Amino acid sequence: MLFTPWQYIADWKCNTCGLCCKAYSVVLNFQEWLNIVKNYGVETTATGLNKLYLRRKSDGSCIFLYRLSNMYLCGLQHMKPIACKLWPFKILTSPKYGYAREAAYPYLGKTLYVYADSTCTGLQYGNPTWNFTNQTLKEFIEIAVGNRREQSKSTADISLTRQPTVIRRIF
Ligand code: SF4
Ligand code: SF4
Repeated sequence: MLFTPWQYIADWKCNTCGLCCKAYSVVLNFQEWLNIVKNYGVETTATGLNKLYLRRKSDGSCIFLYRLSNMYLCGLQHMKPIACKLWPFKILTSPKYGYAREAAYPYLGKTLYVYADSTCTGLQYGNPTWNFTNQTLKEFIEIAVGNRREQSKSTADISLTRQPTVIRRIF
């Protein structure tokens, strides 16, 4: 796992490759675990090393991952765990992965340190765009600090791929 400070990232957009939902175990907090158990049953979760997880299928992918055409989508979108909402970014109060100056992000009078897991295929490297800095990344940070729940910029926009079918009638 390699973490890149956010100032080396031009933009990020989830391309629904599904890699993150296949490669990692998702850790749940107790409230998330309780909500998922109430709605989907305890068999959709797992325990280990004093932690609670989402269950993985035999191929290693998350039990809620499904495929639609060439996209991998989340079946738990309405109660997605915070670990999934924050992926691929790590938002920290200290520069744990180095590059303190490049990772620093000022937020509400404090300095946070933001890195991206470089295994995500939706990262574009370069100078950060205004939209990435002030909209996308800001939304991730608001979710991380508990100032926001809903995702807009920080999730895949599949609406563009669901164009209504237009039926043309020729008389
Ligand atoms: S967050 Fe990244 S790794 Fe995960 S599905 Fe989207 S593009 Fe792929
Ligand atoms: S809950 Fe959704 S986003 Fe999280 S790993 Fe499962 S399918 Fe992926």
